[in-house]
Amino acid sequence: MAKKNDDSNGGTEAITKSHYVRCRYCGQKNSVKPDYVNNSAVCGKCKLPLSNEPHKKFADLNKHEYIHPLDSKALAALRAIPGIDSALKKLLAVTGESAIRVMFMASAVKVTPTQCPDLYAKLQIACTTLGVDAPDLFIQQNPVVNAFTGGVEKPVIVLHSSLIERLNEEEVLAVIAHEVGHIHAEHVLYLTAARLIEALANLSVARLIPGSEIVKFIVSAGIGSALLAWARRAELSCDRAALLVTQDPHVIGRTMMKLAGGTFASKIDYDQFLEQAREFQKNYDENKLDKFWADIINAGLSHPFPIWRVSEILKWVEDGQYQDLMKK
Ligand SMILES: [Zn+2]
Ligand SMILES: [Zn+2]
Repeated sequence: MAKKNDDSNGGTEAITKSHYVRCRYCGQKNSVKPDYVNNSAVCGKCKLPLSNEPHKKFADLNKHEYIHPLDSKALAALRAIPGIDSALKKLLAVTGESAIRVMFMASAVKVTPTQCPDLYAKLQIACTTLGVDAPDLFIQQNPVVNAFTGGVEKPVIVLHSSLIERLNEEEVLAVIAHEVGHIHAEHVLYLTAARLIEALANLSVARLIPGSEIVKFIVSAGIGSALLAWARRAELSCDRAALLVTQDPHVIGRTMMKLAGGTFASKIDYDQFLEQAREFQKNYDENKLDKFWADIINAGLSHPFPIWRVSEILKWVEDGQYQDLMKK
């Protein structure tokens, strides 16, 4: 932290040193004004609040240390379906990972060290914190607030423009970290299949594409609905991965608040939103009808309710599991 009396100590070196702060996230050395205090400026490279507080990078993070139990359970149920892996591999071989790459190279902006460098820096931060090789990152103009990770061997992350516009710098890091979490947790093959089946279900042309027999098999074997049920639970694991990167549960909470409340979110009281998350959880746990409706409504969505995601993150922190991982 910058000391005000450095001047009285003489030594120009001490003065110079105190006017630089190394970014806790990306390591960039930033020159700061003499009256700098932590978080009063942003890093010139990653644009995140500048602070010399420590930021943990995990040397050897095992996915089982943060995977949500509902994710593991749903995945085990999915894997128990006979023939699932070969059917999904066939489906993806037909549609091809190259199609995903071509689609985004042609329709979205690729983030590089010189194109949107602050987003590139955030991607690097998420990857070095969790221990993942950096995937390609694309920004796509799209009014639907969303982000996703797809691919098989070489995953890509795509962020919709409306998502970035709505969130602040730390919240954008949380979203990128969530997507990198899908790669770290080895979700990508099943996740791509889930999104593909979802997309095919909405397209009448699906039956015209080669491999539609495989699509039929996947639907008839119940793979589609089992995949989507798992994919929703997988989100809870990746919210935890996002927390391991932002290292502040309220960044995740505020991101969810904005996903729930829209652009109007700046006027929403965050503490009351947290209260709402606790109330939702209480009703869900205690009231069978609330649980029934919550489960039914959620079954039609690609992501779990934002309020449920907040409540799950708070539970993970309050259980002490998050702190145990941070101490490792
Ligand atoms: Zn930085
Ligand atoms: Zn996700």
